[in-house]
Amino acid sequence: MLKPVDSFVDLGLNRHIVHVLHDIGYKKPLPIQVQCIPYLLAGYDVLGMAHTGSGKTAAFILPLLHHIDCNNSFSQGLIITPTRELAIQIGKVCSNFSRYMKKINVVTVYGGQSYSIQLSALNKGPHIIVSTPGRLIDHLNRGTVDLSKLKTLVIDEADEMLRMGFIDDIERIIKHVPIKRQTALFSATLPMDIRHISYRFMHNPKEVYIRSNTNICADIRQNYWLVHGIDKREALMRFLETEDFDAAIVFVRTKYATLEISEMLEKFGHNSAALNGDMDQTVRYQTLDRLRHGRLDILIATDVAARGLDVHRISLVINYDIPINSDAYIHRIGRTGRAGRIGKSLLFVERREHRFLRNIERKINLNIPEVRYPTVKTLLACRLIKFTNKVEQQLNIDNNLDAYRSLLLQIKPKKDLTIENLAAVLLKIAQGKRPLVLPPDPITKNKLVCKMRINNNNHQNYYRVSNNRGIKNRTLSRMSDDNMNVYHISVGHNDGIKIRHIIRVLLNKIDNICYDKIGDIRLFSSHATIELAKGLYSSKILDRLSRACILNKPINIKLLGNVSSRNDMRYHGMFSKNTHVSDEITSC
Ligand code: AMP
Repeated sequence: MLKPVDSFVDLGLNRHIVHVLHDIGYKKPLPIQVQCIPYLLAGYDVLGMAHTGSGKTAAFILPLLHHIDCNNSFSQGLIITPTRELAIQIGKVCSNFSRYMKKINVVTVYGGQSYSIQLSALNKGPHIIVSTPGRLIDHLNRGTVDLSKLKTLVIDEADEMLRMGFIDDIERIIKHVPIKRQTALFSATLPMDIRHISYRFMHNPKEVYIRSNTNICADIRQNYWLVHGIDKREALMRFLETEDFDAAIVFVRTKYATLEISEMLEKFGHNSAALNGDMDQTVRYQTLDRLRHGRLDILIATDVAARGLDVHRISLVINYDIPINSDAYIHRIGRTGRAGRIGKSLLFVERREHRFLRNIERKINLNIPEVRYPTVKTLLACRLIKFTNKVEQQLNIDNNLDAYRSLLLQIKPKKDLTIENLAAVLLKIAQGKRPLVLPPDPITKNKLVCKMRINNNNHQNYYRVSNNRGIKNRTLSRMSDDNMNVYHISVGHNDGIKIRHIIRVLLNKIDNICYDKIGDIRLFSSHATIELAKGLYSSKILDRLSRACILNKPINIKLLGNVSSRNDMRYHGMFSKNTHVSDEITSC
């Protein structure tokens, strides 16, 4: 029977490597490392299906380093990555892991960096080259890179290479490396094209699968917000103000949006910056460095620019624009909750994007709970707490305020001011664009969406007030029939009544009603029935409703009984003779 692997020593890595892993605090190998490292140490080819965040970088770098012969100055290992950021990151990890291998030389080459820097580094005979495909081909064409004695080739994020159109480049590069070599290929997914590459360029690879939902998603609290009530920008600002996070990344679809959103956030005092593929490499590098070292808190990025980003401070990911597919979603949220840390992710979903949400849920095998946007009340409470904390902090640092107190007396506006009024003015000024007093949110009637179903058999208009996703969500489904009462109102289709009129009355007459308290609404020619949660039944509410009118007609609401008695013939018979009417109301 195989012995369980509890340490990197058990995996057979050399002492220099074990030493450094101990220094950086890697206590135990992660599952992908347990599975890949022994194969790679034994010289097998490996085809690994794993997402970033699973620990795959160490899984291929550690055995690569183990095999490097530092006494020979030819290039022995090549790692190809789809983006510059990933190349830089992997280059750094390589240098870090090899810090006790005195003579090792690791060089990172990528487009956007000056050739002269790269040429002088390559001249020194790197043992390991980390590169993006395009720039490597340039060097191969110029004869400034020699891969003729390469021992190990690693292709990272192969599916991304495919998506970015780099596969031909990979084939060209492979022509420059010896046929007898070790190849490791990692990919978040294994579409047929990747499989074909593995058949052509790998020799009986050992396959390793690390499922995303057993590693990435477990450590990330995921939510989605259905875009309604306030616009996305306003919602973004509110979430960023009320969520607790160390650093956040906001994903948007276009390069232009990275600039636009980051400008808006900066205007409101957030410490934010854009990251996109059009930016100069040095600026991108500096931006990531600022984020890493706490000089920047919010990054607005496109998928490509944030590929493989590994910044431990990121504890919140906001998908401002929905990702193009579920793999991109998994990649995005994988920027947080890295290697066992806890992270949060929030997905903005517009109504027309429901099916994307469902695809994602299917892929991660998880029902993502919906959250509401923070209300003005929550926002203000949050601001007040932050302000109080600031005051408290200041008092802790320095409570000798005599000089300031005397200055207060010198502030003499035209009007006479009491000290309290002055304090209020100063408070208002201090809060600037984040006032502590705001009008409450308007009631958004479209919180309720009526989904119409026409029941032709019964010739009724049949409407179910559902949650906005139009599917029964475990956390948001309406109450069971036992907990619902059915009411009769004496206005119907012939009176010109539409479902939206009924909903409007319910909203106006019942405080804080939410959609899980409303069941089916059936509209007939001369009357309608409404299902309401039993908890809403009170003489006060009934009294208010009984005096309500729709289109100037009293509705005369009456309790009929429990919904579970709907199938009761007496109840059914009362309404089934009504005529069919067609009505296309989907929201109110
Ligand atoms: P990766 O999937 O390679 O991008 O790695 C994700 C994160 O896991 C990185 O921040 C690594 O530093 C961290 N990591 C990798 N292996 C281990 C380990 N054995 N123990 C703790 N953290 C690790």
